[in-house]
Amino acid sequence: MKHEAISAPSAANARIRQEHLTRILSGVLSAVIGILALAVSLPLRPSTIDWATRLALILPGGLGFYYFLTRRLRQRAAIRQAPFPDQWRKILEQEVPFYQTLNPAEQQRFREEVHIFLQEKRITGIRTTIDDTVKLLVAASAIIPIFGFPGWEWDQIREILIYPHSFNDHYQTEHRADASILGMVGSGAMTRMMILSKPELLQGFRQPQDRHNVGIHEFTHLLDKSDGVVDGIPEVALPARAIKPWLELVRREMENIRQGHSDINPYGLTNEAEFFAVAAEYFFEHPEKMHQHHPCLYDMLRKIFRQDPQSRLSRAISDMFTL
Ligand SMILES: [Zn+2]
Repeated sequence: MKHEAISAPSAANARIRQEHLTRILSGVLSAVIGILALAVSLPLRPSTIDWATRLALILPGGLGFYYFLTRRLRQRAAIRQAPFPDQWRKILEQEVPFYQTLNPAEQQRFREEVHIFLQEKRITGIRTTIDDTVKLLVAASAIIPIFGFPGWEWDQIREILIYPHSFNDHYQTEHRADASILGMVGSGAMTRMMILSKPELLQGFRQPQDRHNVGIHEFTHLLDKSDGVVDGIPEVALPARAIKPWLELVRREMENIRQGHSDINPYGLTNEAEFFAVAAEYFFEHPEKMHQHHPCLYDMLRKIFRQDPQSRLSRAISDMFTL
């Protein structure tokens, strides 16, 4: 598997290449459809008037189709150009430890991705108020796991519901002993939705090294789900030949938890999908400790997420002392 952690300039270049490719493909598709429409609509021996009338219809139509296909690129470019509110920047600086370890170019890219996420997705408080901090922490939770995938689009999600507390299987929250769910990725009628408990979302970022972060946990499930199933095998990031070694490693690590020889959250024993999500929380919240205690797992997650938070953290600390 060859997915190295990527630097900010190469990530930006990869995104630009991807956008160029989308523009070229959209242009080719629009041209092909235009030519076909012309061929079908022209009589056998077209006159100048025939050409002129058809072209007058087809050229604007083709151009409109091209603009339709590339509209999201243009919307995103406009968001990247728009100023990022100072208040939002302060929240990221104060509340998101991951953001604090990024270099200035990476921070710029992180802010752009957060901005795009907040413009494209709806975040709704259910029986609770939501402020900028809640919104920024939801967006940060979404961007952290895919920060190594430039140009990633969270098509799997449309809306995030923020609940006032943890909840049960029937989405009930108040005064219930069985209200133990902190977050979930929706399915069935709730497809393309996510629920997060507000206190746990905030707590996840305020205790940065406890290896619990419900936002990162749920968006890791969503990344896992990008191949259609939440099964702990993120096929979008794992080449086919790496799946077997990954599952063998996961089962070894799960066995260590079962025998009491691991500091990974025992909730990971539920199944491979939950193991992947709790391992991701650990990987992003306490990378140096995971690197030390679980070097093989760290290395595999570094390849899956295409990021190396431990090196990033070491660099940020050394930068702090050389200032
Ligand atoms: Zn889970």
